[in-house]
Amino acid sequence: MNEVPSQGEEMSTGEAAPTSETEAKRVIDIRGATKVFNPGKSNQVEALAEVDLAVEPGEFVTLIGPSGCGKSTLLRLIAALIPPSTGSVEVNAKPAEQARLDRDYGMAFQTAGLFDWRTVTKNIELPLELMGWSRGDRRGRAKEMLELVKLAEFANHHPSELSGGMQQRVAIARALSFSPALLLMDEPFGALDEMTREHMQDELLRIWKETATTVVFVTHSIPEAVYLSTRVLVMSPRPGNIASIIDVDLGERRGATRDDPAFFKKVTEVRVALRKVEE
Ligand code: ADP
Ligand code: MG
Repeated sequence: MNEVPSQGEEMSTGEAAPTSETEAKRVIDIRGATKVFNPGKSNQVEALAEVDLAVEPGEFVTLIGPSGCGKSTLLRLIAALIPPSTGSVEVNAKPAEQARLDRDYGMAFQTAGLFDWRTVTKNIELPLELMGWSRGDRRGRAKEMLELVKLAEFANHHPSELSGGMQQRVAIARALSFSPALLLMDEPFGALDEMTREHMQDELLRIWKETATTVVFVTHSIPEAVYLSTRVLVMSPRPGNIASIIDVDLGERRGATRDDPAFFKKVTEVRVALRKVEE
Protein backbone atom coordinates (compact mmCIF):
# COMPACT_ATOMS: atom_id res chain seq x y z
CA MET A 1 0.00 0.00 0.00
CA ASN A 2 2.95 2.37 0.51
CA GLU A 3 4.21 1.96 -3.02
CA VAL A 4 4.22 5.06 -5.16
CA PRO A 5 1.04 4.87 -7.22
CA SER A 6 1.69 4.46 -10.90
CA GLN A 7 -0.45 3.96 -13.94
CA GLY A 8 -2.04 0.56 -13.83
CA GLU A 9 -1.23 0.09 -10.14
CA GLU A 10 -4.76 -1.10 -9.51
CA MET A 11 -3.75 -4.23 -11.41
CA SER A 12 -0.99 -4.99 -8.91
CA THR A 13 -2.69 -4.48 -5.54
CA GLY A 14 -3.99 -8.00 -5.45
CA GLU A 15 -7.44 -6.74 -4.40
CA ALA A 16 -10.43 -7.95 -6.37
CA ALA A 17 -10.73 -5.47 -9.21
CA PRO A 18 -14.24 -4.55 -10.34
CA THR A 19 -15.07 -6.44 -13.51
CA SER A 20 -15.86 -3.23 -15.35
CA GLU A 21 -15.87 0.52 -14.89
CA THR A 22 -19.69 0.70 -15.00
CA GLU A 23 -20.23 -2.03 -12.43
CA ALA A 24 -18.01 -0.23 -9.96
CA LYS A 25 -20.16 2.88 -10.29
CA ARG A 26 -23.61 1.25 -10.11
CA VAL A 27 -25.95 2.86 -7.63
CA ILE A 28 -28.11 -0.26 -7.44
CA ASP A 29 -27.13 -3.83 -8.25
CA ILE A 30 -29.74 -6.49 -7.50
CA ARG A 31 -29.08 -10.09 -8.40
CA GLY A 32 -31.60 -12.87 -8.12
CA ALA A 33 -33.43 -11.20 -5.24
CA THR A 34 -36.58 -12.99 -4.10
CA LYS A 35 -38.94 -12.13 -1.27
CA VAL A 36 -41.28 -14.56 0.44
CA PHE A 37 -43.37 -13.23 3.32
CA ASN A 38 -44.40 -15.67 6.08
CA PRO A 39 -42.46 -18.58 4.56
CA GLY A 40 -43.86 -22.02 5.32
CA LYS A 41 -47.03 -20.61 6.86
CA SER A 42 -50.58 -20.78 5.50
CA ASN A 43 -50.39 -17.05 4.70
CA GLN A 44 -47.14 -17.37 2.72
CA VAL A 45 -46.81 -14.74 -0.05
CA GLU A 46 -44.26 -14.97 -2.82
CA ALA A 47 -43.91 -11.22 -3.34
CA LEU A 48 -40.88 -11.14 -5.63
CA ALA A 49 -39.51 -13.74 -8.01
CA GLU A 50 -35.81 -13.63 -8.90
CA VAL A 51 -35.33 -9.95 -9.68
CA ASP A 52 -32.21 -8.61 -11.41
CA LEU A 53 -31.80 -4.86 -11.66
CA ALA A 54 -28.87 -2.53 -12.28
CA VAL A 55 -29.25 1.23 -11.98
CA GLU A 56 -26.49 3.60 -13.11
CA PRO A 57 -25.75 7.01 -11.58
CA GLY A 58 -28.09 9.79 -12.70
CA GLU A 59 -30.88 7.52 -13.90
CA PHE A 60 -34.51 8.19 -13.09
CA VAL A 61 -36.07 4.74 -12.92
CA THR A 62 -39.78 4.21 -12.36
CA LEU A 63 -41.51 1.02 -11.19
CA ILE A 64 -45.07 0.64 -12.43
CA GLY A 65 -47.44 -2.30 -12.24
CA PRO A 66 -50.75 -3.57 -10.87
CA SER A 67 -51.48 -3.18 -7.17
CA GLY A 68 -49.74 -5.91 -5.15
CA CYS A 69 -47.10 -6.71 -7.79
CA GLY A 70 -44.26 -5.98 -5.38
CA LYS A 71 -43.26 -2.37 -6.18
CA SER A 72 -43.05 -1.30 -2.53
CA THR A 73 -41.38 -4.58 -1.59
CA LEU A 74 -38.66 -4.00 -4.18
CA LEU A 75 -38.14 -0.43 -2.93
CA ARG A 76 -37.95 -1.69 0.67
CA LEU A 77 -35.31 -4.24 -0.35
CA ILE A 78 -33.22 -1.46 -1.91
CA ALA A 79 -33.66 0.60 1.28
CA ALA A 80 -32.73 -2.46 3.40
CA LEU A 81 -35.90 -1.96 5.44
CA ILE A 82 -36.45 -5.69 4.80
CA PRO A 83 -33.90 -8.33 3.70
CA PRO A 84 -34.32 -10.42 0.54
CA SER A 85 -35.20 -14.09 1.08
CA THR A 86 -32.48 -15.07 -1.38
CA GLY A 87 -30.17 -13.17 -3.72
CA SER A 88 -28.21 -9.97 -3.17
CA VAL A 89 -28.99 -6.26 -3.07
CA GLU A 90 -26.13 -3.78 -3.37
CA VAL A 91 -26.34 0.00 -3.14
CA ASN A 92 -23.30 2.13 -3.99
CA ALA A 93 -21.29 -1.09 -4.44
CA LYS A 94 -21.89 -2.30 -0.87
CA PRO A 95 -24.54 -4.42 0.82
CA ALA A 96 -27.83 -2.49 1.05
CA GLU A 97 -27.74 -2.80 4.84
CA GLN A 98 -24.38 -0.97 4.95
CA ALA A 99 -25.72 1.70 2.55
CA ARG A 100 -28.65 2.21 4.92
CA LEU A 101 -26.30 2.66 7.88
CA ASP A 102 -24.19 5.06 5.79
CA ARG A 103 -27.37 6.99 4.85
CA ASP A 104 -26.68 6.63 1.14
CA TYR A 105 -30.34 7.20 0.28
CA GLY A 106 -33.26 9.44 1.19
CA MET A 107 -36.90 8.29 1.11
CA ALA A 108 -40.26 9.92 0.42
CA PHE A 109 -43.67 8.28 0.65
CA GLN A 110 -47.30 9.05 -0.28
CA THR A 111 -47.80 10.87 3.01
CA ALA A 112 -45.19 13.54 3.73
CA GLY A 113 -44.70 12.21 7.29
CA LEU A 114 -43.68 15.56 8.77
CA PHE A 115 -43.77 16.39 12.49
CA ASP A 116 -46.20 19.20 13.13
CA TRP A 117 -44.64 20.28 16.44
CA ARG A 118 -41.51 21.16 14.48
CA THR A 119 -41.20 24.04 12.05
CA VAL A 120 -40.55 23.33 8.37
CA THR A 121 -36.86 24.17 8.92
CA LYS A 122 -36.66 21.86 11.94
CA ASN A 123 -38.26 19.03 9.96
CA ILE A 124 -35.61 19.34 7.25
CA GLU A 125 -32.89 19.46 9.91
CA LEU A 126 -34.04 16.23 11.56
CA PRO A 127 -31.86 13.75 9.63
CA LEU A 128 -28.92 16.14 9.98
CA GLU A 129 -29.48 16.23 13.76
CA LEU A 130 -29.44 12.43 13.84
CA MET A 131 -26.19 12.52 11.88
CA GLY A 132 -24.62 14.88 14.39
CA TRP A 133 -24.33 17.99 12.22
CA SER A 134 -23.62 21.24 14.07
CA ARG A 135 -26.45 23.72 14.56
CA GLY A 136 -24.92 26.22 12.13
CA ASP A 137 -24.36 23.62 9.40
CA ARG A 138 -27.92 22.34 9.83
CA ARG A 139 -29.39 25.82 9.52
CA GLY A 140 -27.31 26.54 6.43
CA ARG A 141 -28.30 23.33 4.70
CA ALA A 142 -32.00 23.65 5.61
CA LYS A 143 -31.99 27.13 4.08
CA GLU A 144 -30.40 25.83 0.87
CA MET A 145 -32.92 22.99 0.67
CA LEU A 146 -35.85 25.35 1.21
CA GLU A 147 -34.58 27.47 -1.67
CA LEU A 148 -34.26 24.34 -3.81
CA VAL A 149 -37.93 23.42 -3.25
CA LYS A 150 -38.96 27.10 -3.41
CA LEU A 151 -40.36 27.35 0.11
CA ALA A 152 -37.88 29.80 1.65
CA GLU A 153 -40.65 32.05 2.97
CA PHE A 154 -42.24 29.13 4.87
CA ALA A 155 -39.14 28.28 6.92
CA ASN A 156 -40.81 29.03 10.26
CA HIS A 157 -44.27 27.71 9.46
CA HIS A 158 -45.55 24.42 10.80
CA PRO A 159 -46.48 21.64 8.32
CA SER A 160 -50.25 21.88 8.99
CA GLU A 161 -50.14 25.47 7.68
CA LEU A 162 -48.96 24.21 4.27
CA SER A 163 -50.88 22.66 1.34
CA GLY A 164 -50.41 18.97 0.49
CA GLY A 165 -48.07 19.78 -2.39
CA MET A 166 -45.98 22.09 -0.20
CA GLN A 167 -45.75 19.43 2.52
CA GLN A 168 -44.56 16.94 -0.07
CA ARG A 169 -41.88 19.44 -1.18
CA VAL A 170 -40.70 19.70 2.45
CA ALA A 171 -40.52 15.88 2.58
CA ILE A 172 -38.39 15.89 -0.59
CA ALA A 173 -36.16 18.63 0.87
CA ARG A 174 -35.73 16.54 4.02
CA ALA A 175 -34.93 13.38 2.00
CA LEU A 176 -32.28 15.30 0.04
CA SER A 177 -30.89 17.33 2.96
CA PHE A 178 -27.85 15.11 3.47
CA SER A 179 -27.14 14.86 -0.30
CA PRO A 180 -27.80 11.14 -0.66
CA ALA A 181 -26.65 9.45 -3.86
CA LEU A 182 -30.08 7.88 -4.17
CA LEU A 183 -33.65 9.06 -3.68
CA LEU A 184 -36.33 6.39 -3.20
CA MET A 185 -39.92 7.53 -3.70
CA ASP A 186 -43.04 5.39 -3.19
CA GLU A 187 -46.08 7.03 -4.85
CA PRO A 188 -45.07 10.41 -3.41
CA PHE A 189 -47.67 12.34 -5.41
CA GLY A 190 -50.48 9.77 -5.13
CA ALA A 191 -52.53 11.86 -2.72
CA LEU A 192 -52.29 15.14 -4.66
CA ASP A 193 -54.84 16.64 -7.06
CA GLU A 194 -53.95 16.53 -10.76
CA MET A 195 -52.78 20.15 -11.13
CA THR A 196 -50.58 20.01 -8.03
CA ARG A 197 -49.29 16.66 -9.15
CA GLU A 198 -48.14 17.96 -12.54
CA HIS A 199 -46.50 20.92 -10.81
CA MET A 200 -44.71 18.56 -8.42
CA GLN A 201 -43.50 16.44 -11.33
CA ASP A 202 -41.90 19.53 -12.88
CA GLU A 203 -40.35 20.46 -9.54
CA LEU A 204 -38.96 16.96 -9.07
CA LEU A 205 -37.47 16.95 -12.58
CA ARG A 206 -35.85 20.30 -11.92
CA ILE A 207 -34.43 19.09 -8.58
CA TRP A 208 -33.23 15.84 -10.16
CA LYS A 209 -31.37 17.82 -12.84
CA GLU A 210 -29.94 20.30 -10.31
CA THR A 211 -28.75 17.71 -7.78
CA ALA A 212 -27.77 14.84 -10.14
CA THR A 213 -29.36 12.41 -7.66
CA THR A 214 -30.32 8.94 -8.89
CA VAL A 215 -34.04 8.33 -8.39
CA VAL A 216 -36.12 5.16 -8.07
CA PHE A 217 -39.78 6.14 -8.18
CA VAL A 218 -42.97 4.09 -7.75
CA THR A 219 -46.23 5.17 -9.36
CA HIS A 220 -49.61 3.93 -10.63
CA SER A 221 -49.76 6.65 -13.25
CA ILE A 222 -48.56 5.86 -16.79
CA PRO A 223 -48.13 9.52 -17.89
CA GLU A 224 -46.30 10.30 -14.65
CA ALA A 225 -43.91 7.38 -15.24
CA VAL A 226 -43.16 8.46 -18.82
CA TYR A 227 -42.92 12.15 -17.99
CA LEU A 228 -40.37 11.65 -15.22
CA SER A 229 -38.27 8.66 -16.16
CA THR A 230 -35.24 7.78 -18.18
CA ARG A 231 -36.39 4.15 -17.82
CA VAL A 232 -39.76 2.61 -16.95
CA LEU A 233 -39.83 -0.89 -15.44
CA VAL A 234 -43.18 -2.61 -15.89
CA MET A 235 -43.73 -5.20 -13.15
CA SER A 236 -45.90 -8.32 -13.35
CA PRO A 237 -47.63 -9.82 -10.30
CA ARG A 238 -47.62 -13.15 -8.43
CA PRO A 239 -44.75 -13.33 -7.94
CA GLY A 240 -43.55 -9.83 -8.75
CA ASN A 241 -40.94 -9.47 -11.44
CA ILE A 242 -39.77 -7.01 -14.05
CA ALA A 243 -41.76 -7.93 -17.15
CA SER A 244 -40.50 -5.25 -19.52
CA ILE A 245 -38.17 -2.28 -19.61
CA ILE A 246 -39.04 0.80 -21.63
CA ASP A 247 -36.30 3.34 -22.24
CA VAL A 248 -37.67 6.85 -22.42
CA ASP A 249 -35.30 8.75 -24.66
CA LEU A 250 -37.17 12.02 -24.98
CA GLY A 251 -33.91 13.87 -24.30
CA GLU A 252 -34.22 17.60 -23.80
CA ARG A 253 -37.89 17.48 -24.73
CA ARG A 254 -38.42 15.68 -21.44
CA GLY A 255 -40.19 18.03 -19.12
CA ALA A 256 -40.69 20.51 -21.95
CA THR A 257 -44.14 19.41 -23.03
CA ARG A 258 -46.77 16.82 -22.23
CA ASP A 259 -48.33 17.26 -25.67
CA ASP A 260 -45.41 15.92 -27.67
CA PRO A 261 -46.28 12.99 -30.01
CA ALA A 262 -43.06 11.25 -28.85
CA PHE A 263 -44.43 11.45 -25.29
CA PHE A 264 -47.76 9.86 -26.30
CA LYS A 265 -45.95 7.14 -28.18
CA LYS A 266 -44.11 6.16 -25.00
CA VAL A 267 -47.32 6.34 -22.95
CA THR A 268 -48.90 3.88 -25.39
CA GLU A 269 -45.86 1.61 -25.20
CA VAL A 270 -46.09 1.45 -21.39
CA ARG A 271 -49.89 0.94 -21.55
CA VAL A 272 -49.48 -2.01 -23.93
CA ALA A 273 -46.82 -3.55 -21.67
CA LEU A 274 -49.10 -3.10 -18.63
CA ARG A 275 -52.04 -4.71 -20.40
CA LYS A 276 -49.91 -7.76 -21.05
CA VAL A 277 -49.07 -8.23 -17.36
CA GLU A 278 -52.67 -7.60 -16.28
CA GLU A 279 -54.12 -10.25 -18.57
P1 ADP B 1 -47.31 -2.96 -4.48
O1 ADP B 1 -46.49 -1.92 -3.80
O2 ADP B 1 -46.88 -3.23 -5.89
O3 ADP B 1 -48.78 -2.65 -4.44
P2 ADP B 1 -46.38 -4.68 -2.33
O4 ADP B 1 -44.92 -4.72 -2.55
O5 ADP B 1 -46.87 -3.80 -1.24
O6 ADP B 1 -47.13 -4.35 -3.70
O7 ADP B 1 -46.88 -6.15 -2.01
C1 ADP B 1 -46.56 -7.27 -2.80
C2 ADP B 1 -47.20 -8.52 -2.20
O8 ADP B 1 -46.59 -8.81 -0.96
C3 ADP B 1 -48.69 -8.34 -1.92
O9 ADP B 1 -49.33 -9.57 -2.16
C4 ADP B 1 -48.72 -8.00 -0.44
O10 ADP B 1 -49.92 -8.39 0.14
C5 ADP B 1 -47.55 -8.80 0.10
N1 ADP B 1 -46.91 -8.15 1.26
C6 ADP B 1 -46.30 -6.94 1.29
N2 ADP B 1 -45.80 -6.69 2.51
C7 ADP B 1 -46.10 -7.77 3.28
C8 ADP B 1 -45.84 -8.11 4.64
N3 ADP B 1 -45.17 -7.31 5.46
N4 ADP B 1 -46.32 -9.31 5.09
C9 ADP B 1 -46.99 -10.13 4.27
N5 ADP B 1 -47.26 -9.88 2.97
C10 ADP B 1 -46.82 -8.72 2.48
MG1 MG C 1 -46.99 -0.12 -2.84
